[in-house]
Amino acid sequence: MSDYERALALLPELSELRRELHRNPEVGLKLPRTTALVMQRLRSLGYEPQEICESGIVATVGSGAPVILLRADMDALPICEQTGLPFASENGAMHACGHDLHTTMLLGAAKLLKERETQLCGTVKLMFQPGEEIFKGAGAMLRAGVLEDPHVDAAFGLHVGADGPVGMVCYNDETALMASCDGFRITISGRASHGSTPQMGIDPINVGAHLHLALQSLIAREVGPDGRCVLTVGQFHAGSAANILPDSAVLEGTIRTVDEAARGHLVRRMREVAQGCAALFGAEAEVEMLSEVPPLICEKGLTADILRFIGELPVPGVTLAGGERTSGSEDFALVTDEVPGCYLFLPAGQADESGKRYPSHNSHVRFDENVLPFGAAILAHCARRWLEDHGKTTAANR
Ligand SMILES: [Zn+2]
Ligand SMILES: [Zn+2]
Repeated sequence: MSDYERALALLPELSELRRELHRNPEVGLKLPRTTALVMQRLRSLGYEPQEICESGIVATVGSGAPVILLRADMDALPICEQTGLPFASENGAMHACGHDLHTTMLLGAAKLLKERETQLCGTVKLMFQPGEEIFKGAGAMLRAGVLEDPHVDAAFGLHVGADGPVGMVCYNDETALMASCDGFRITISGRASHGSTPQMGIDPINVGAHLHLALQSLIAREVGPDGRCVLTVGQFHAGSAANILPDSAVLEGTIRTVDEAARGHLVRRMREVAQGCAALFGAEAEVEMLSEVPPLICEKGLTADILRFIGELPVPGVTLAGGERTSGSEDFALVTDEVPGCYLFLPAGQADESGKRYPSHNSHVRFDENVLPFGAAILAHCARRWLEDHGKTTAANR
């Protein structure tokens, strides 16, 4: 029986698990309930999972080299769910990005792999991470040594999408699949005074306004039109009353691009412009980086292997769609920066009763659970087949 047929038989079990996760979402780097559920589930399958950092779980199946890592993220978003689904979250957070499905798919794959452990030609390492939405979880697990002991040779991850039907596999083996993300906070320190005597103070709001425009000029004048660069200031906080010049102002924003050279330029210039603009008006600026994630680039050879393995699964109507690009970011890029990696999107769009579809990160978004066996089968089958192919090479080279 193929991994897909075996995964299909798990659908009721996977659906129940996914709904349990969906009903109890947790946000950020601390996911105590989710972690406990995943650990307990892995133990019941015969694994010996380890929590290598808070809510960062690693488990292995098989033995020896080579080693392929399968990754799922487990965190939710601070959004009040409004889907009205019977298993909707009521705790003020929501799995609006589908990470509940990722966790479930990897647990499904864990079961499929464990059942045929003796047939594995190497090791599959499972990585369950927290804090993807804040771009912190993968970094924490890397620092805790997720890629060592045993050393990881390749890494593979999936993300569900809220558009398109189940059965599509979207990839990019030419350019970056996802953009870099450099989040920043600029704190401008001026000097407070009465609003009627601005000459007595240094107005940080005035500095912030000039700074905002100057930052936009970086995109308009300093990167080429093909660079696909974004610089967004999404927060600007200052002041408490109409007749007071405040002491300080804070701007927070994000720089996204698929071009590493443009990324380096924009981050450096954002810092210089912040310092320069503040100095121009006699204020001071402090720049803090909130996240530093590179573009996600899939390794060509590994992606070709994975797509070939997916083609072996007896799934009716599978469509492989190349050229996928998004200006979204993923901290799995920190992993693919270290080892050859492949990341794919699996559309799983589902309309509500009125036929409406919503994007991910929306409080109304729904996902089609038929993606669960599809994703679980892809993870298990591709890992097993990759070990088969590369295990042979490793053995032949000895
Ligand atoms: Zn997300
Ligand atoms: Zn996500």
